[in-house]
This record gives sequence, structure tokens and C-alpha cells, in this order.
Amino acid sequence: MIQLTKPEIGKEEIEAVTEVLRSGMLAQGEVVEEFEREFAAYIGTDYAIATNSGTSALHTALASVGIKEGDEVITTAFSFFATASCVLMQNATPVFVDIDPKTYNIDPFRIEANLSERTKAIIPAHLYGQPCEMSEIIDIAKEHNLIVIEDAAQAHGAEYKAIRAGSIGDIGVFSFYATKNIITGEGGMITTNNEVIAERARMIRNHGQTKRYFHECLGYNYRMTNIAAAIGLVQLQKIDMLNLKRMSNARYYGEQLNLKKPYVSPNVKHVFHQYTIRVKDRDKFIAHLERNGVGYGIYYPVPLSSQPLFNSQGVFDVAELASKEVVSIPVNPSLKRADVEKVVKVVNSYEGRS
Ligand SMILES: *Cc1c(COP(=O)(O)O)cnc(C)c1O
Repeated sequence: MIQLTKPEIGKEEIEAVTEVLRSGMLAQGEVVEEFEREFAAYIGTDYAIATNSGTSALHTALASVGIKEGDEVITTAFSFFATASCVLMQNATPVFVDIDPKTYNIDPFRIEANLSERTKAIIPAHLYGQPCEMSEIIDIAKEHNLIVIEDAAQAHGAEYKAIRAGSIGDIGVFSFYATKNIITGEGGMITTNNEVIAERARMIRNHGQTKRYFHECLGYNYRMTNIAAAIGLVQLQKIDMLNLKRMSNARYYGEQLNLKKPYVSPNVKHVFHQYTIRVKDRDKFIAHLERNGVGYGIYYPVPLSSQPLFNSQGVFDVAELASKEVVSIPVNPSLKRADVEKVVKVVNSYEGRS
């Protein structure tokens, strides 16, 4: 079986974790601070604040800019649950916008029709590792005085017009969950150039504390451990190599697959968190993959706009059709040449192709 995802953990990560365990300093400490400094430098922001998941990073980001009950937050109809559930965590309302059928990212030309006096922020999500059309989004945000929080949980090292994802909006949010482009098992990061936001995010991550046992605002225990940060520091040294492997696998598929390839905008560096194709009769296609030992994933089978929890209004035809047709095939950096050759052979031998 060729796995869709496989963590790339080497002896360097094991040694780094062992060192932390031996030190006895397991919780948030100097290793986390070092990871934050290195990550900020890599993304190109002044500040980075580590958390224990991408979800807690998203929640912290919204809380740090004061999103509250009655506020509306514009986001994409097609992403992982946490892109929108973080809005509910602040008792605010997510307002979904349909996606661009080529990139699967929020369609910037549909944003303005969804703005109201209550709109406070936009959360574009860089799906599958391809940054959104950020120029349009930033222009809308400037004109309407909105905060932009990039959900870059699938886009570590991706670029839009040669600028790294997570450094374009007011805040960037990353995840280091075990399947992402770089990993710590569970983990997250907030990136920003805004000192006030950075300070508030640090406070919220740690029970709203300013001094020991002095709590200035509602906060949480969203702290990262030194153990996770030790893995993250090693992974960060490998990030460009890991992304290059993904991109090279994607390039090979682009040359070899005899079906429609994923669209890549000329404005971006796409880091292929997923290599996602479309098929009309997906159940038959995935049965074919299963029979032939090729792993796959469906991101996502239900659009956010159709999740009953959000009770959303409106029509989301593009996201709905995508949710029925998308399927991601293995593109992860652990794949050998023989693996990608086999994936090509299996996909190209599918008969029911439309
Ligand atoms: C993974 C992911 C998250 C959440 O990150 P966790 O670390 O799993 O909490 C949020 N948004 C997107 C787009 C993701 O892919």
C-alpha cells in the first residue's frame, strides 16, 4: 500500500527529543522560544507565537484581535472544520464564500457581496498548499477595514508573489499536525508583524496571564511543549527539502498523468500539501485505487457551508461540486521513484475516466 501521508522523522528528531527529555524541561520553555524565533525568521515576520495545535492558533488569533459575539467573519466554504469553528469559539458568525473552481480557494470576487457592517475579518485558507489570490483579498480588507487571518495550516513555505504565506495578512496561522508539510505531532504557530497582536496572543495562549497568577483576560492552556518544539526545530531545517520533494512528485504527475492536472496560479509557489485531482464517478475511482494499493484522501467530502452546525445561508455550487469530485493521491516526501511510478500506472489505468 502506498500511503497518502507518512511522517518524515529521522534520527535528528529523535536525538533532539531525547535531549529535551534528559533536560527535564518538558513544558513550554527555551526550546519553544527558539522554535518561535526560527519560524518567524523563516516566514519573514517579526513575531511568532507557538501553540499546541493549529486549531488553538486560529482561536488565539481571533481572540487576540477581539473578534466577539455579533461580529461576522468571512471565510471559505471549502476547508477543514477548524477554519470556521474558531469563529464560533469567539461566539461570532462565520459567513461563507464560495470557491474558485480552479484553485479551490475562496473566490475573492464573491467576497464583497457578503460584507456587512458587522464584518470584522477575513480568513482565507491556502488549501492543498496553494496560496489564495491575496492581492484582491488585501485590497478588500484595506477598503473595508478588515483584519486578514491567513489559515496557512497547509502552506508552510508556500509563496504568493514571492512572499511567504503567513506573512501577507495581519496574522498567519500554521499547524504541525502529523500529516502537514512540517510536523511536531500536534502543534501550531501564529505569525504576525504586529507587536500588540503578538503580545495579546502570548497572553491568551497562557491563561491570559501577564505576571504569574495575574490574569488580565480570558485565556487558555494552548502552550506548546519543549518536546514538540525540538521536533519542529529539526523539521524547520528540512522544510525546503521536504517541500521540494512534494513539488518534484507533483511535477512528475504533471508530466505523466493522463487526466486534468491541478491548476497552479502563476502568482504562487504551491507546496503541494495535497495533490488533488477531480473525477466524476469518485466511488468507482477510489475502489480502483484501493484494489491496486494506492492510498487516497478526500478533502473535504462535505463543504463547511453544508455542515449543519454553521446553519449557513446561501448557495455554494462550486464547493458542493468539488466536495463530490475531489480526491487526493499520494505526493508526500517519503515516496520513492517506484511509488510515484506505480501511482501513475494505477491512475492512468483507470477505465471509467470521463
Ligand atoms: C490542519 C488544519 C487546521 C487545524 O490544525 P490542527 O493542528 O489539526 O488543529 C486548520 N485549518 C486547516 C486548513 C488545516 O488543514
